Amino acid sequence: MKHDAIVIGAGVQGCAVALRLAQAGRDVAVLERSVPGAEASSAAAGILSPGVEAEEPGPFYQLCAASLSRYRGFADELERLTGIALGYRGGGTLQVAFDDLTARTLAGRAAQIQKHDIPVEVIDGDEVRRLEPALDPRVRGALWFKEEASIDPRPLARALHLAAHAAGAKFLSGQVRRIVQVEGRAIGVDHDRGRLHAGAVVLAAGSWSATVEGSGLPPGAVRPVRGQIALLDTRPPLLGRVVFSDKGYVVPRADGRVLCGSTMEEVGFERAVTAGGVRGILDLAMEIAPGLASAPLLETWCNFRPASPDGWPVLGPSAVPGLYYATGHTRNGILLAPITADAIARLVLDEVVDPAIESFGMERFTAAAPAAAQAAE
Ligand SMILES: Cc1cc2nc3c(=O)[nH]c(=O)nc-3n(C[C@H](O)[C@H](O)[C@H](O)COP(=O)(O)OP(=O)(O)OC[C@H]3O[C@@H](n4cnc5c(N)ncnc54)[C@H](O)[C@@H]3O)c2cc1C
Repeated sequence: MKHDAIVIGAGVQGCAVALRLAQAGRDVAVLERSVPGAEASSAAAGILSPGVEAEEPGPFYQLCAASLSRYRGFADELERLTGIALGYRGGGTLQVAFDDLTARTLAGRAAQIQKHDIPVEVIDGDEVRRLEPALDPRVRGALWFKEEASIDPRPLARALHLAAHAAGAKFLSGQVRRIVQVEGRAIGVDHDRGRLHAGAVVLAAGSWSATVEGSGLPPGAVRPVRGQIALLDTRPPLLGRVVFSDKGYVVPRADGRVLCGSTMEEVGFERAVTAGGVRGILDLAMEIAPGLASAPLLETWCNFRPASPDGWPVLGPSAVPGLYYATGHTRNGILLAPITADAIARLVLDEVVDPAIESFGMERFTAAAPAAAQAAE
């Protein structure tokens, strides 16, 4: 049997792409070796912050902002399709400074990015505490990215799986060993269940993307970067919006839970929550809001960000016709799910590279090679 498309991996990227393809009437199979959403997509904090994450104006900021602008509609659509509440919260993101020098640096950054019409307000310490009374009295000021939001990634991952399934995508469990090519074109995959054929193959295997034989990804294009999270309980809720310091962040949910994160660790696929990791996360969280010291510690976990060398996603056609990438989302895969889904589905359906993803192709890792070779001649 031949599918119109095969998607490798059922994280948020794989499920979201499959949803759009199935909604367009395509026969799509999603191949997942574990439980859909089990990896990075369920481990994420769910911050939707182009302002903090994309440090300067440019294509990456534009991509993040375009995805954020679709988020409310995306979340509403998924809630309607599945009945699952996704915990989408507005209120914006605060990036706080604990000393005058950092406050001046942040204000300087705001002045730069405001020139590019990026919506940000500079607020003083009193205004920060009016918004978030539980923040440390030493906070001197903050940038407030008012239009930003957060979402709960676990129900999001679940809803994307269920919505894609309900739209007709077939989920098959088992590992993809290899992407199969015939005469230079991807024609399917070798899977635990045997060879599966398809008109298009979408690689959305997160941190494991480069481990799939035949991926065509250059070495190092996607690697795992471990992140740890600690979950605290505050009742009544201590915080109302996402707060970043220069060390990390706290992400409050409406029910009073507060996610504290995170680490960025180059430890390969070593799956471990560590004493040092959790201590660092709790210290930074209590520095932001000292009242968190008395909050019960509910849970800790870790997972692997699918990290690219520049932190930008790897989106678009591969060098092999019929094989497409939806991977490498690094720290922003939850934020970028809506635009990834729309752009990769468009690519598979119409073979059109959406201008939004033009800067994110894998050629950026290989483009330097011919020039270097020429120089050496
Ligand atoms: C601690 C932490 C905090 C984060 N916080 C945020 C945040 O606040 N905001 C944000 O936007 N992003 C955040 N991220 C990043 C975000 O989680 C990722 O970028 C995103 O989840 C990647 O989605 P994915 O579908 O590509 O990967 P994954 O969710 O990892 O899914 C890949 C899937 O592919 C499957 N797979 C792999 N290999 C194979 C194979 N050979 N055959 C079959 N299946 C395979 C895996 O089992 C997995 O289910 C965070 C990540 C971490 C770890």
